Amino acid sequence: GRKFLVGGNWKMNASKQLVNTLVSNLNAAEWNTDEIEVVIAPPAPYLDLVRSLAKPEVYVSAQNIYFEKKGAFTGEISSEFLKDLGITWTILGHSERREIFKESDEVTAKKVAYALGEGLSVIACVGEKLEEREANQTAAVVFRQLAAIATVLKPEDWTHVVVAYEPVWAIGTGKVASPQQAQDVHAEIRTWLRDNVSEAVAEQTRILYGGSVSAKNSADLQTQIDIDGFLIGGASLTGDFITIINTRS
Ligand code: 13P
Repeated sequence: GRKFLVGGNWKMNASKQLVNTLVSNLNAAEWNTDEIEVVIAPPAPYLDLVRSLAKPEVYVSAQNIYFEKKGAFTGEISSEFLKDLGITWTILGHSERREIFKESDEVTAKKVAYALGEGLSVIACVGEKLEEREANQTAAVVFRQLAAIATVLKPEDWTHVVVAYEPVWAIGTGKVASPQQAQDVHAEIRTWLRDNVSEAVAEQTRILYGGSVSAKNSADLQTQIDIDGFLIGGASLTGDFITIINTRS
């Protein structure tokens, strides 16, 4: 079975006070670690504080890294920093990186391969924009994003990859995908992995849904067979994050 993963992407939201509140709440919460994995991704300047305060059952993730070890890359985050801080995960290819910061499929794929080579686990994000869905391009876009990644990975690399399907029209909009809409794309992603990588990778790779997941809609979404967890934005900054974890346990 694929272990359910609940990820919290804080995006560019944090303060020492917020870290204290959110991490204290998580430390007080309980979940069955055989069945649920919890990963939180605070902004880079808070990674060290979050890692030092959070209990070991809480995995901590960066929101992005660069594909070089060190040097003259002002403003960038190295996998070396993460390893130094005991951070074992990174999100890559979030739609905000792709859209606002113009990170291409190829740059995203290069980062995924680099991060895996450095021993990190990766939440690799894919998803279509509204106009792409309306033009019936959802599968084509998601497959193109996946193909860029698959091209640079060896089949065994997928052990440390989680795919997050985040339709851009659902992110931060309150317009969550219906359980069926999400399931349809998750099933297509799994079939794509079966056809283009391997049966084993298709069976084992977790596919998260992200986009306006809330304490109200998470119970229905998680009943879908190919939804293996969530990547949560706004609700990860509130007590709803724990409600969502508890809904599963
Ligand atoms: P929201 O949950 O705020 O829609 O954000 C989803 C997301 O982008 C998580 O990475």
